[in-house]
Amino acid sequence: MFEALLITKPESGYRCELTQLDEAQLPAAGDVTVRVDCSTINYKDGLAITGKSPVVRSFPMVPGIDFAGSVTQSDHPKWKPGDRVLLNGFGVGEAHWGGLSQMARVKGDWLVALPDTLSEREAMSLGTAGYTAMLCVQALQKHWAEAGVAAGSGEVLVTGAGGGVGSVAISLLAGLGHTVVASTGRPQEADYLKSLGAASVIDRNELSAPGKPLQKERWIGVVDSVGSHTLANACASTRYGGAVAACGLAQGMDLPASVAPFILRGITLHGIDSVMAPMARREAAWDALAKTINREQLASITTEIALPDAIAAGSQILAGQVRGRLVVKLKA
Ligand code: NDP
Repeated sequence: MFEALLITKPESGYRCELTQLDEAQLPAAGDVTVRVDCSTINYKDGLAITGKSPVVRSFPMVPGIDFAGSVTQSDHPKWKPGDRVLLNGFGVGEAHWGGLSQMARVKGDWLVALPDTLSEREAMSLGTAGYTAMLCVQALQKHWAEAGVAAGSGEVLVTGAGGGVGSVAISLLAGLGHTVVASTGRPQEADYLKSLGAASVIDRNELSAPGKPLQKERWIGVVDSVGSHTLANACASTRYGGAVAACGLAQGMDLPASVAPFILRGITLHGIDSVMAPMARREAAWDALAKTINREQLASITTEIALPDAIAAGSQILAGQVRGRLVVKLKA
């Protein structure tokens, strides 16, 4: 028997509870069994745990879109018992039982080899949020390389700065020599954001209200995890030829923007999806994270919690009360 969170939807309502499961209950639609060492709480896990948005597509469901652990059994040619692996997305924790569980059975095609230099805890300190931050940074780096834009030649905006994607994005961009401006609704976290490398901090209210289609040119690039008016304003204030990487919707799913920044300033909007990203892109992102992440900063953004606390953490992340990243320790 092992411990897991289980989401059910009886007539009495949507419920997420700590429970004991048997290995025989793990999904048959999987060819690799993993003893999970750590998982995480991402924004999407908050949606699943609370039921605030219909991300869970079948019941009962074990939530958890990420995990890191060791293979215990495999019918997949790539994996053998003892291999250290991690998983992000692919519908795990939404349509297939996920990582907020001491054991998981998944498709071997979804697994990434845990880089040798990363511990399971570090991998989950990064989790989908960190891996998505790296996908955003890599999209911007490719754009800048093609456009001949050098690090330090202008400011880079990171929105949702106090959250998981934002915190890791600041650390990565500052580590690459960029001048990072962090946008947050938590001005009390300014010292934290500066400790990650932000050169300055702005109030997110500067970006969250409806704005003009073209604004003063400021950013050479943007990592946006907020969407809605924030993303529209970020595009409207991106410098000629600059780029915006959009990955999130913390403010809203809408994009009330005009085409003006695209057709008059030639800016580029890169859509970033981590869930179904091809394996080569995942491996490149994790390889780059293992090589470049600042370990001290990663430790400073991470809070470790136990599995029973993950239920309350689901509500806290949706309320914007989580700073940085939460790691859920599963290995006894
Ligand atoms: P977090 O909750 O950790 O961070 C989100 C941050 O957004 C908050 O900390 C807060 O930062 C800011 N925020 C919250 N509410 C609002 C609001 N109403 N208006 C403006 N800003 C707000 O989540 P993650 O970092 O894990 O994820 C961020 C977003 O990215 C989510 O929407 C998530 O669904 C999405 N995402 C998408 C992925 C993809 O594949 N495309 C993968 C991973 C995440 P502050 O307090 O500093 O203002």
